[in-house]
Amino acid sequence: MSPHDTRPLFAFDNTYARDLEGMSVPWQPARSPAPRWLQFNRALAADLGLDGDALASDAGLACLAGNAIPDGAQPVAQAYAGHQFGGFSPQLGDGRALLLGEVIDRHGRRRDIAFKGSGRTPFSRGGDGKAAVGPVLREYLMGEAMHALGIPTTRALAAVATGETIFRDQPLHGAILTRVAASHLRVGTFQFFAARGDHERVRRLADYAIARHDPELRAQDGRHLALLRAVCERQARLVAQWMGVGFIHGVMNTDNMTISGETIDYGPCAFLEAYDPATVFSSIDHHGRYAFGNQPGIAQWNLARLAETLLPLIDTDEDTAVARATEVLDAFGPAFDREWLRIHRRKIGLQGSTGTAGNDEADRALLNDYLALLHRHHVDFTLGFRRLSDALRSPAVNPLAPLFGAGGAELAGWLARWRQRLQDQGTPPADVADAMDAANPLYIPRNHLVENALDAATGSMDLRPFERLLAVVTRPYDERPEDALCALPGSAEQTEGYRTFCGT
Ligand code: AMP
Ligand code: MG
Repeated sequence: MSPHDTRPLFAFDNTYARDLEGMSVPWQPARSPAPRWLQFNRALAADLGLDGDALASDAGLACLAGNAIPDGAQPVAQAYAGHQFGGFSPQLGDGRALLLGEVIDRHGRRRDIAFKGSGRTPFSRGGDGKAAVGPVLREYLMGEAMHALGIPTTRALAAVATGETIFRDQPLHGAILTRVAASHLRVGTFQFFAARGDHERVRRLADYAIARHDPELRAQDGRHLALLRAVCERQARLVAQWMGVGFIHGVMNTDNMTISGETIDYGPCAFLEAYDPATVFSSIDHHGRYAFGNQPGIAQWNLARLAETLLPLIDTDEDTAVARATEVLDAFGPAFDREWLRIHRRKIGLQGSTGTAGNDEADRALLNDYLALLHRHHVDFTLGFRRLSDALRSPAVNPLAPLFGAGGAELAGWLARWRQRLQDQGTPPADVADAMDAANPLYIPRNHLVENALDAATGSMDLRPFERLLAVVTRPYDERPEDALCALPGSAEQTEGYRTFCGT
C-alpha cells in the first residue's frame, strides 16, 4: 500500500453492533508483541472484495494481529449461551473472539470478519482469551478443506502468530485466526436471551436473522416459525453433507450450531478413516455423544433447543406454539433422509430421479449394505467410495479388492447388485464413473497428515508441510500422481490412538 493510498482495508457496515443493542459488548483486541504471518488467504480476500496487496502489507498484519483497528471496524464480543454436552451454560459468549465488523462480498453477501484468539473479554470466565498456533491452523485447514468439498463453512482469511507465549499443558506460540462467516448467529445466541426471559430481544434477534439469512420470509405471516423451518432445512442439508464425506464435528454444542447453516468451530473435528458410525475422536467426548452416526440426532436435538426459544414468537398460546414447532422439528428426519439419499446416490452413480418410493427404498438398502460392508471389513470410508469408480472402469481387475481383505466374496456380491442397478438406469459406465469422481473426494485432511503439518508449524514454525497439505485438500477431487501418498489412510496404530482436543 502506498503511503498516499488512504482507502480503508475493509468497507465495514456493522449491523450487529449498530442494530442489536444489548447483544454484544464493545471491546478491543489485545496487542500482539511480535506479529508475523502464518498464512494469508488471497483468494478469499479477493472474493470479499478486499485489496489483497494492502492486507498482505505490514499495515494489514498490524490490523490482523490486533495492533491497529482498521478504519470502520467496531469490535464487539458477542453474547451467547449454550448446551455443552447436554448441560446448559447460560453465559458463554465470545471469550476469546471479537466480531470486527461486516463487509459485503463480491456476490453481494454480507460476511462477518472476526478474530479468534484476540485476548480476554467480559465473557472469558477463567480463560486467557488466547489461541495457539496449532488449533488456529487446524481451523484454517479444515475450513478451507470443507469449502473445497462444497460444504457450507466459515472460512479463514488469515492466521498470524502473535509472538506471545501462551500456556496450556506446555508453553505454546499464540496466534489469531481471522474468520469469515455468513454470520456468527448461533442457536446459543437465541438461548442467551430466552434464558433471561428477554423475549423482546429474542424477537429482534429472530428478525435480524431473517433479514440476514432468509429475507424472503420478512413479510410472511408466521415468519418466526418459517425461520425455524429454514434453519432446520439448512442443518439437515449440512449434516447430510458432513455424513457424505465422513466428517465428525466433535463438539456439536448449541453454541457451535449456526443459524446460517455453515459449519463452525473446528475444535476436535476429524474425518473418518475406517468406516464405523460409532467413531469418536474427541478426547472429551467420553460417552460418544457426538459420534459420527449420532450427528443427525444431535442436530435435531439442538434445533429443538432453538425452537424452545422461539415459542413465544410462534403463538401466544403455548400449546399451539408447541404443536407448530413440533411439526417443523418432526420434518427434520425426513429432510435429512432425503438429503442423505441424494448425496449418497451421487456417490455410487445413481440417478434417483424416478422418485418412486420403492426405488428409494431399494437404493437406500443398497447403500446401507455397502456401508455395512465397509464397517465389517474396516474399509477406509473415503477410498471405499472413491475406488468404486475404478471398479466400474475396469471390471476385470477389481481395484477395490485390496481394500476389503477377506471380504472379497461379499464385495463381489454387492458389486453385482450395484452393476445391475446401473444397467437398469441405462447410463454409460464411463460417464457414471466420471460423475462419481466428482462426488467422491480422493484427498481429505487425513488425521496423521494434519498432525504432521501442525507439529511442524507448532514446533519449528515450519509452514511448508501445512501449505503443502492445504494445497492438496483444497483440490480434493482431481487425482494427481504426485499426491498419491496424501490419499492413503494412516496406519492402524495411528488411527486407533487418534485423539483430538478442543482448541482451548
Ligand atoms: P469453544 O470450545 O471454542 O466452542 O468455546 C466454548 C466457550 O469457551 C466459548 O464461550 C469460548 O469463548 C470459551 N473459550 C474457549 N477457550 C477460551 C479461552 N482460551 N479463553 C477464554 N474463553 C475461552
Ligand atoms: Mg464455540
